[in-house]
Amino acid sequence: MDRRAFLRRGGAAAAGLLLGAGCGVRPLRDGPTPAPLRLAPVRVSPDRVIRTVAGLRPYRSEGFVVQTERFDETTVIHNYGHGGGGISLAWGSSELAAELAEEVVRNGGPRHFAVLGCGIMGLTTARLLQDRGFQATIYARDLPPHTTSNVGGGQWSPFSVYSSSAASPTFERQYERAARISHRYYQDLAGPRYGVRWIRNFALRSSPGRARTGMLEDLFLDQEVLDPGEHPFPTPYAARFTTMLVEPNVFLPAVMDDFLLRGGRVVTREMRDLDEVLALDQSAVVNCTGLGSRALFGDDQMIPIKGELVVLLPQPEVDYITLGGGGYMFPRSDGIVLGGSNERGEWSLDSTPAVVERILDRNRALFDDGTF
Ligand SMILES: Cc1cc2nc3c(=O)[nH]c(=O)nc-3n(C[C@H](O)[C@H](O)[C@H](O)COP(=O)(O)OP(=O)(O)OC[C@H]3O[C@@H](n4cnc5c(N)ncnc54)[C@H](O)[C@@H]3O)c2cc1C
Repeated sequence: MDRRAFLRRGGAAAAGLLLGAGCGVRPLRDGPTPAPLRLAPVRVSPDRVIRTVAGLRPYRSEGFVVQTERFDETTVIHNYGHGGGGISLAWGSSELAAELAEEVVRNGGPRHFAVLGCGIMGLTTARLLQDRGFQATIYARDLPPHTTSNVGGGQWSPFSVYSSSAASPTFERQYERAARISHRYYQDLAGPRYGVRWIRNFALRSSPGRARTGMLEDLFLDQEVLDPGEHPFPTPYAARFTTMLVEPNVFLPAVMDDFLLRGGRVVTREMRDLDEVLALDQSAVVNCTGLGSRALFGDDQMIPIKGELVVLLPQPEVDYITLGGGGYMFPRSDGIVLGGSNERGEWSLDSTPAVVERILDRNRALFDDGTF
């Protein structure tokens, strides 16, 4: 894609991510215009691609499910359906599930839980159960690094999670609470052990306006709109804010280690149907099977939204995120992650050459045409 086409698409407005509606609100600046920002550019070329990968976001337009369901002698607490924001929401949503587990125990239920799934929801749920003094055994078909959670980009950005026209006000309260708890929890994990760090984001835009973050506005810190000439990107404006980046390939093994160190047990096993779940040794179960909940618990609302990623050789000097031009760039220690594709209802995990090429072209236009 050439520079003009990139601009025509409206920079970040084409990304479907954190899009400002062009509200035009901008902090006023006194004094001389600041010097243009210097940033290291990403080197985009096919010979720097180390892998391409696809993942299926577990999406429900009405929003993720955290609730208790009874099946004869077994109590199941659901914690699934977090769409494109499950990494961001994990600690918060799992905290809500752990509160329901406390209720089970308070009402005389068992203190040993089966946790189905070993993605980010299963692992954070299992850890929070342990923190309450309960035991947890994880049963999962796939373990890290083979879960959707390992594919996730990792920006703290709990969006593309539900449709506001389908979700209820009750869900939106649950969502906001989960997002705020999670944001706070991740702050305590910042550092190399968990692969969590604060990072500047630039939402690239053709018009002035802040990133639109709705009810979570205050969690997107240090916001400023940079005018033409104040930044190196080829779009006229760049809306800057600071959020966290969670590196799944560091975070998931670290949480797994914590879980095992505290006496947790992991069983690799696929649950083929509900009867197998109800036959487990534990009569209290937390369901964190993500997209697997569609078949296992008959939730037809669950659909996949396929996302493809192109990963380039790592560039430790790149210390910012870009959102725009129909995609995003996250600089992780395991590579520069380029993404932004969304295919609703697509179950295939194959990489598509045309999508890979489009992602590379857009990013080449962004970094080659800038003034880095
Ligand atoms: C391309 C892409 C980019 C993303 N980027 C971001 C991002 O930047 N920020 C963000 O917050 N989120 C992002 N996400 C979303 C995030 O990755 C997901 O919301 C999250 O990983 C879901 O976690 P989970 O634990 O529910 O599911 P999963 O990681 O899929 O884990 C499900 C677990 O359940 C197990 N399971 C399923 N069915 C069964 C069964 N029948 N029996 C036994 N075990 C079963 C699986 O084996 C697995 O262990 C992205 C997702 C994709 C695909």
